[in-house]
Amino acid sequence: MRSVTILGASGSIGTSAVNFLRLHRDRFVLSNIAVNGDWEAALRIALEFGCKAVAVTDPAAASELRRQAPAGAFEVIDGPQSAAAIAAAPVDVVLAAVAGSAGLPSVLAALRAGNRVALANKESMVCGGRALLDLAAANGVEILPVDSEHSAIFQAMLAGKREEVASIVLTASGGPFRNTPLEQMRAATPEQALAHPNWSMGAKITIDSATLANKGLELIEAAYLFDRDERDVEVVINPSSILHSAVQFRDGSMIAQLGLPDMRPPIALALSWPDRLETGVKSLSLAELGKLEFQEVDYERFPCLGLARASLRTPGGPLLFNAANEVAVAAFLERRIGFMEIPEFVAECLEAGAGRFACALDDILEANQAALAFSRSRLLARAA
Ligand code: MG
Repeated sequence: MRSVTILGASGSIGTSAVNFLRLHRDRFVLSNIAVNGDWEAALRIALEFGCKAVAVTDPAAASELRRQAPAGAFEVIDGPQSAAAIAAAPVDVVLAAVAGSAGLPSVLAALRAGNRVALANKESMVCGGRALLDLAAANGVEILPVDSEHSAIFQAMLAGKREEVASIVLTASGGPFRNTPLEQMRAATPEQALAHPNWSMGAKITIDSATLANKGLELIEAAYLFDRDERDVEVVINPSSILHSAVQFRDGSMIAQLGLPDMRPPIALALSWPDRLETGVKSLSLAELGKLEFQEVDYERFPCLGLARASLRTPGGPLLFNAANEVAVAAFLERRIGFMEIPEFVAECLEAGAGRFACALDDILEANQAALAFSRSRLLARAA
């Protein structure tokens, strides 16, 4: 039996993971879960799986959970540190599925405690960089990617040796504005940007998919995770999201991973690795699919991708890229800035804050808070 902790259990990834574990009750024990404020989901999951402990970030939601839970059913811990506390409880694998850099403390805590991490929180890798991999190695644990692209690359990498890899091909769906003219993109509303054609996900990542900032974060994540220069990571649009990414080897062979656009297989693989278990996702029929289309990325309409590449050339650049983007996306969702102002604002922050947020892993949480504060103050200055 493999013991699992899910951080972000009520979110999109967390829900898929819970559904996967339900299919394999004979193989997995769900020991602990963490949620932000959805105490009802937490109660349901904890009772169904007999969890030992539940972390709830929001204290009011935690109180409600304590009131509603049967006496002695499970322990409830609350507050801003609760997810990190639960991430450190010894288990076989921690699924880190909290959105944004808010997930960073719990990823650090899991690794420091020697827990293998199934990483859906790409911001942790973007902020922590190679130091995060060093931390995992120092604690004798692995980081397994959950992101569909990185899972695909991880799988394709198994076809050869590291030194035989020529490049990585990271695919993107192109999001809802793949073919939208720049002028219409400028006027895009949160509702339009939230209507992703292929994937059903949380709000932050859906907006990131519309600006391709998500692909930028993934590019940074791939460069770190697979130890490649950003120039060796090519981004190509595959509108149907069937080809999840590929690795080009030096002999001219490209190994790709394909499947229907569904997060269950990559989540399942990260939890069950090195085994492959049934996920309930149907097999891909190539005959039904008919064709696979690819398109080049338009770096002009999607400046976030180029900004992400550029950020890798400055110490602390990716951390700042992520912080500025988080602040910009929140402002866009609140209708304080326009859609194309997201990349504009990120570019401004990267320029004004270049080199200011370089730090060692021990200071990463403070650096991230400082980068977020820096970005928020620039946003206020911009509005003034
Ligand atoms: Mg992805």
